[in-house]
Amino acid sequence: MGDEKVKEEAMQIMGLFQVLPRLVVFDLDYTLWPFYCECRSKREMPRLYPHAKGILYALKEKGIDVAVASRSPTADIAKTFVEKLEIKSMLVAQEIFSSWTHKTDHFQRIHKRTGIPFKAMLFFDDEDRNIEAVSNMGVTSILVGNGVNLKAFRQGLTEFSQNAGSSSNSKQ
Ligand SMILES: [Mg+2]
Repeated sequence: MGDEKVKEEAMQIMGLFQVLPRLVVFDLDYTLWPFYCECRSKREMPRLYPHAKGILYALKEKGIDVAVASRSPTADIAKTFVEKLEIKSMLVAQEIFSSWTHKTDHFQRIHKRTGIPFKAMLFFDDEDRNIEAVSNMGVTSILVGNGVNLKAFRQGLTEFSQNAGSSSNSKQ
């Protein structure tokens, strides 16, 4: 499936939901791309998972902000790849640094930079411990098994809208 077709399907999926996140945050290694960038050379031309670009295009068209949060020990390689893949201009925040915490500090920084509440964020990552730590902050967090794809995207939006529903009910 080409990027345009994926984008179209992602747009249709978003159309199914009344509540959407204001910001979607992606991990890099094994979430947006199928490798650890620390094992690669900056000179290489990286590739994304097949659905990643189409989903990013759809979010942009829908006016939903996008950010990345990565604990890569080689931030220089990760940032070079983000530029080479032409996604840098689509990002409102790019937090790439190694850390002992499981991305809670990445999300604090993203929140400071964007002003967007954790409850309005959706996060995709391939590591359990990041998912657990970040969901404890109030971010809807989705574990991906084989990179981000339309199935994970739909699951993320479903869980996001369920969380949004339950938090508004509890306020009443
Ligand atoms: Mg990862």
